[in-house]
Amino acid sequence: MAKGEREVDLFVIGAGSGGVRAARIAAGYGARVMIAEEHRVGGTCVIRGCVPKKLLVYASRFPHEFEDAEGYGFSLATPTFDWGTLISNKDKEIARLEAAYATNLEKSGVALVKSRAVFEDAHTVRLVATGERVRAANILIATGASPSLGPPIPGIEHVISSNEVFYLREFPRRILIQGGSYIAVEFACIFAGLGAQVSLVYRGDNILRGFDDDLRHQVRVEMEKRGVHVITGSTVTAVEPMGKQFSVQLSSGGLTVTADQVMFALGRPPNVAGLELDKAGVALDGNGAIAVNEYSRTSVPHIYAVGDVTNRINLTPVAIREGHAFADTVFGGKPTKVDHTNVPTAVFSEPEIGTIGLTQAQAAAQYAKLDVYKTMFRPMKATVAGRDTTMFFKLLVDAASDRIVGCHILGEGAAEMIQLVGIAIKMGATKADFDATMAVHPTAAEELVTMRQPAEQLRREAAE
Ligand code: NDP
Repeated sequence: MAKGEREVDLFVIGAGSGGVRAARIAAGYGARVMIAEEHRVGGTCVIRGCVPKKLLVYASRFPHEFEDAEGYGFSLATPTFDWGTLISNKDKEIARLEAAYATNLEKSGVALVKSRAVFEDAHTVRLVATGERVRAANILIATGASPSLGPPIPGIEHVISSNEVFYLREFPRRILIQGGSYIAVEFACIFAGLGAQVSLVYRGDNILRGFDDDLRHQVRVEMEKRGVHVITGSTVTAVEPMGKQFSVQLSSGGLTVTADQVMFALGRPPNVAGLELDKAGVALDGNGAIAVNEYSRTSVPHIYAVGDVTNRINLTPVAIREGHAFADTVFGGKPTKVDHTNVPTAVFSEPEIGTIGLTQAQAAAQYAKLDVYKTMFRPMKATVAGRDTTMFFKLLVDAASDRIVGCHILGEGAAEMIQLVGIAIKMGATKADFDATMAVHPTAAEELVTMRQPAEQLRREAAE
């Protein structure tokens, strides 16, 4: 070791969900751990992702609640909304969480350094803020991913991403969002709920590619009922400032949309640039993510990577699980693989989506006999409120084994429901298990255990 160098058992690059969990668990096993973060402790999820997004989602649902309350006999003064108050209260909560993350690291005995860290060689990282070199027996890369604005187009400098949207000074009365996945759909619903005119522009034929087709259809119907203008088969070709607004040109039919803000949510490529991975010999996969094996080990045996930078399943709980498994494997003497199958997930659209397992198209391709149970109904609360909305439930059952291989829910509480359904499905629940479970009445979730007749029975002949 060179003079003045520090030495640790584990150096973690990135204090987001995966890195923080790994650092704390490794320290708990007695390892000397240092973690470097160049932005804010907590990473995307806590600072500019899941957590502040959910706070905005809560805010966006109040206007409907106020309207619905009238059907239940309440007369409310016309509510007013102040974006500045929402953002400032959100900022306070995020600052509180960030401090809690830093405190928890400290309590676990992890040394936190506020600096970018880059590789000098396979065992040495340099802290850019101080120039200090740290020698590490093991290194964990947990640098996450960053929003992409896609290929350059005229006026791209006026476009914001999910990084900036959390800090807008003014509420955009009209916003155009490009993208068709989690982030674009969630923000389209947030802004529409808060009263903005929202145009959602997506290049494909329907939003949320990769989700169950019935669910995709139904969420679009519901979003359109709530005023989101969904423009499919189109892309943004130019953004031109017009005073304080923008004129946004679309590829489809010379269409132009005027907006106060233009946001793109076109995916989040892994954060690998500037780490100087070549100095350590860490290999990337064909998509530019860090290539890892089932123990999150990279091409260099003592260097590991977890979370979005590995582009496996880019969800916070997955990164946390990967970070924990890494620490158990390397410092706890318990080699642990993460099971990436049957991961429940939610889209906090309005209404929200909860989903686990295969889509109907995937299940039909995988199973020769597939029973499809589905139901769509107006939720009880909406009847008296006079709201035109529907809930949707689908269960996919492998008829040969009776196993439930997919569950898709659209409607209020879908995220909470899918977490619980996830336990049953992870345990290998059959349709008979669901049927044997007594309903909780009156709830929407009781549909999960009361669907008796398959809506479709898909049968494939055995291959000749
Ligand atoms: P995704 O990677 O999920 O999707 C990217 C979207 O942008 C797709 O609709 C894609 O279209 C479209 N797109 C990509 N490139 C272009 C282009 N050049 N022109 C036009 N459209 C393009 O991205 P997100 O940014 O929504 O989310 C990033 C990640 O964050 C996801 O992996 C998700 O797991 C995670 N996340 C999870 C949340 C949750 O759990 N609730 C919330 C927010 C994010 P196409 O479908 O045609 O490829």
